[in-house]
Amino acid sequence: MREIVHLQTGQCGNQIGTMFWETISKEHGLNADGQYAGDNDIQLSRLDVYFNEASNNKYVPRSVLIDLECGTMDAIKSGPLGKLFRPDNYIFGQNGAGNNWAKGHYTEGAELVDQVLDVVRKEVENCDSLQGFQITHSLGGGTGSGLGTLLVSKIREEYPDRMMATFSVLPSPKVSDTIVEPYNATLSVHQLVENSDQTFCIDNQALYDICQNTLKLSAPTYSHLNNLVTTVMSGVTTCLRFPGQLNADLRKMAVNLVPFPRLHFFMIGSAPLSASASSSFRNLTVAELTQQMFDSRNMMAACDPRHGRYLAVTAIYRGKISQREVEDQMVQVQSKNSSYFVEWIPNNVKTAMCDIPPAGLAMSSTFVGNSTAIQELFKRINEQFSSMFRRKAFLHWYTDEGMDEMEFTEAESNMNDLVSEYQQYQDATAEEEEMYEGEYEHEGMEHEE
Ligand code: GDP
Repeated sequence: MREIVHLQTGQCGNQIGTMFWETISKEHGLNADGQYAGDNDIQLSRLDVYFNEASNNKYVPRSVLIDLECGTMDAIKSGPLGKLFRPDNYIFGQNGAGNNWAKGHYTEGAELVDQVLDVVRKEVENCDSLQGFQITHSLGGGTGSGLGTLLVSKIREEYPDRMMATFSVLPSPKVSDTIVEPYNATLSVHQLVENSDQTFCIDNQALYDICQNTLKLSAPTYSHLNNLVTTVMSGVTTCLRFPGQLNADLRKMAVNLVPFPRLHFFMIGSAPLSASASSSFRNLTVAELTQQMFDSRNMMAACDPRHGRYLAVTAIYRGKISQREVEDQMVQVQSKNSSYFVEWIPNNVKTAMCDIPPAGLAMSSTFVGNSTAIQELFKRINEQFSSMFRRKAFLHWYTDEGMDEMEFTEAESNMNDLVSEYQQYQDATAEEEEMYEGEYEHEGMEHEE
């Protein structure tokens, strides 16, 4: 079995992480005590990827829960899933990070990090053949962003040949009032560029827009946003949790989606969309699922894929769906939109199928795209960062924790570089075509001679 160790840090990380466990427990037929009560062997066949099997037939999430204050964790402990997690795997401090990345990464968080790594090590020792790690966190606060990225870098150091996937929530002023979020997010992206193998970008701005525009909710709450998050997290992990050929583990997924190591920030989306786990979905046809999944309004990053080009795409269909129909639809999408896929990576669209649909649905689809349009997200954060940093506003909160201004400058330029790299590959076609045309002409002339 190829196990994954999951970490969830900070308020957002713990909230979306816990919902992820709730959702996948249901999909695999586990009740709130972790006992199997399902009716389909497929649910059990790869359960070990995310769950440890305890002696009393109980399945325990391989999850480490971390925070610098106890509020969110107390809520989890007293909630419906409280008894599912291993009690020793709750690790928390008392002082909070006050939305300050420096506190999470260098001071308060640094004090907790060894305790976390001890628990991580224990989980790894119990694994048969660890494939890697995944972490849920927000980039805008202090704990998930600061301590979260510290953990990512420490784990990378200790397990350099294992995969690291992050589900990272990007901040939006539409959702949060904290002014320093662009600082925290930029400092985090600086870390993730180097230390993560694949980052699923979950942009609160996009989630908010989906809730308002598509789901017609006038005042979206975190629980509405998180229902979208959990749908897409369940979708992108489908191939890891259920039997199948394509993207069956984190490394295979990364190999298909990441043509250049730094460019591993994915746009994700799903269809159909719903604001609440209980609301009744309308069942869609394969054609509708496909069309919606590729629609910018279904993307959980506030970027328009039509402003960029896809380096690679994976589509995951769930439910009893004809493979033939899916293949036909995917061919159609690609031929109608061929200019949005870079032509210098042939066959860069992959499709996976899973018989088991998400709870309450007959069929669904999930989209994972490595699009150069993701640069719009980084540009947005970058603009907010630069306007404050130019005047060094709020910087003392970070330097008071011992941070050097230099790290801000480096983070800013790393993110700028990232944007330029996406742009470079977006433009690659025109330039290269000219180059190759030149070569062909040259060859042609030689032939004539
Ligand atoms: P931390 O506990 O210090 O890591 O701080 P938070 O996780 O509260 O980070 C604040 C950022 O996370 C802001 O951008 C919030 O909008 C966002 N956030 C907080 N809780 C949630 C949540 O449950 N769902 C989503 N989607 N975003 C959240």
